[in-house]
Amino acid sequence: MIVVMKQGASQAQIDHMVERVQSLGLKPHVLVGVERTVIAAIGQERPEQKEALESGSGVAEVLPILAPYKMASVEVKRDRTVIRAGSLEVGGARVGVIAGPCSVESQQQILDCAHAVKSAGATALRGGAFKPRTSPYSFQGLKEQGLKFLAAAREATGLAVVTEVMATEDVSLVSEYADVLQVGARNMQNYRLLEAVGKSPRAVLLKRGPSATMEELLLAAEYILDAGNPNVMLCERGIRTFEAHTRFTLPLASVAYLHAKTHLPVVVDPSHGTGHTYLVPDMAVASVAAGADGLILEVHPDPEKAMSDGYQSLNFEQFANTIARCRKVATALDRVM
Ligand code: PEP
Ligand code: MN
Repeated sequence: MIVVMKQGASQAQIDHMVERVQSLGLKPHVLVGVERTVIAAIGQERPEQKEALESGSGVAEVLPILAPYKMASVEVKRDRTVIRAGSLEVGGARVGVIAGPCSVESQQQILDCAHAVKSAGATALRGGAFKPRTSPYSFQGLKEQGLKFLAAAREATGLAVVTEVMATEDVSLVSEYADVLQVGARNMQNYRLLEAVGKSPRAVLLKRGPSATMEELLLAAEYILDAGNPNVMLCERGIRTFEAHTRFTLPLASVAYLHAKTHLPVVVDPSHGTGHTYLVPDMAVASVAAGADGLILEVHPDPEKAMSDGYQSLNFEQFANTIARCRKVATALDRVM
């Protein structure tokens, strides 16, 4: 449930209610909003707890949270969450653009990409150092060496680094180098990993599992929020359907749906969502039109030679043209890109 404090409630009243929530066996999370402060009281609820909290001084009302996800829901927090991680801002007026290769392949490759995507308007650099590959014989990533190349590219360009963390035991290592930890689609329901990134000081980009429902995605986000990390961006990257004309099916209705259900920002990945370079630009434009707070796009200096996902990567020119088109839509919708 949520304890909604009266407008102008004092800090002492808020602190007192936090203690009351704890003493009733629930976990308090204080959310200071523009209009009101609410204390989310999370845990196994009992009817008598509501009455006990309602009588607290400075309390306006106590409401149930109907959604199964609590901290992620708009019932708890009406103001949209704006995430800032270095040069990347997601969730405000600005549409974040995370771009770069699927995999970090060499120092030169990631540096060239960083310079090119930055000059075309990217606000963060992506690149996988730990790669989740379907086959154990495919390129698995440069691991820590790749993280070092990413950090050097940040040094050279000022772009924030977004990179995947695949395992709980790697969270502290990846957090040393990354500005944003990407939890990949295959790991969306790896609950230990979600708890671990929830304890990291870094923002998290949580990708939707290819067969996960919206509710499962939001409950996965809830794990991260509940572990103490409020900076979670959700990423629609396509789901598995009977369709074969695209690698995955990219449902853009999830952007509108998520905006109705959660305060967390929503990023769209048209690269994995379509799996074909020629479909990416139009779907990137459509994502911005649907209200996406950010895009994540695979860009490679020479997609034909990419060590992973070249068939869905844009070259530098295609990326620049795509962003120029997206920008027109963003401007029409009063957003900055
Ligand atoms: C990626 O971003 O390169 C990636 C592996 O994405 P996903 O987890 O969505 O498949
Ligand atoms: Mn990829």
